[in-house]
Amino acid sequence: MRLSGKVALVTGSARGIGRSIAEAFSAEGAIVVVNDVGNDAGACETLAAITASGGNGTVEMFDVSDAAQVDAGVKNILAVHGRIDVLVNNAGITRDNLLLRMSEEEFDAVLRVNLKGTYLLTKTVTRHMMKQRSGKVVNISSVVGMMGNAGQSNYAAAKAGIIGFTKAAARELAPRNITVNAIAPGFIRTAMTAGLPEAVQKTFLAQIPLGRFAEPQEVAQLALFLSTDASSYITGQVIGINGGMYM
Ligand code: NAP
Repeated sequence: MRLSGKVALVTGSARGIGRSIAEAFSAEGAIVVVNDVGNDAGACETLAAITASGGNGTVEMFDVSDAAQVDAGVKNILAVHGRIDVLVNNAGITRDNLLLRMSEEEFDAVLRVNLKGTYLLTKTVTRHMMKQRSGKVVNISSVVGMMGNAGQSNYAAAKAGIIGFTKAAARELAPRNITVNAIAPGFIRTAMTAGLPEAVQKTFLAQIPLGRFAEPQEVAQLALFLSTDASSYITGQVIGINGGMYM
């Protein structure tokens, strides 16, 4: 049990990669705090999956991009569990459009949830981790933040921003024994990618040396590694998980 007794907060864990991470952490003994914004049913399903397999956790709903909600949510978690050992900044959205058609609203929304949300949670949770003198932060970036993608200038900017943020935070927090790393997934089978037209999926597939898309559980195993003592000397890194799509 690699996370026995640890409390882990996984944002956006009502479905997709976040749910897989929550389940993988629970299987290793973590008490998991499931978070989402509007999807109460999904968050409860994640918690039900955790408890059905003998795990333990709670649900804390808040919008990661709203400072007041983040503050109240983290306070509640600390009141219930007393500590937070692992933070996974997973919540994310896309609003794809070609640059010339992209509205300010589409640009701002993606930056707000993906990048500002990561900043707000990291700032609020690491304040507490600093007192503990230990902690693990895992930020979910994207291969798109490293190589760009037509139609996703907002998303690429947010995910590249997360990489810079991760490196700066890693430098600031290392003296307090807090590691901060980023995962940059390629094409993972979730609701976020299921909606892409078949032609777009085929184009992506042709660029992947391993010849397939990944399952969310494969990303969860990497998040698990970066959240345990097995990765104690790794900080400020961006780990790609993309089937060789970007090297
Ligand atoms: P998903 O299935 O759309 O799940 C994202 C989750 O985040 C949803 O449960 C969503 O809630 C939640 N969320 C959205 N806005 C939020 C907010 N303001 N506050 C709290 N929660 C919020 O996406 P996914 O594919 O699992 O992606 C998870 C992460 O991996 C994202 O950061 C994404 O950018 C990244 N990623 C995904 C892929 C991929 O191929 N799937 C590739 C690279 C990176 P609702 O259910 O209420 O919408």
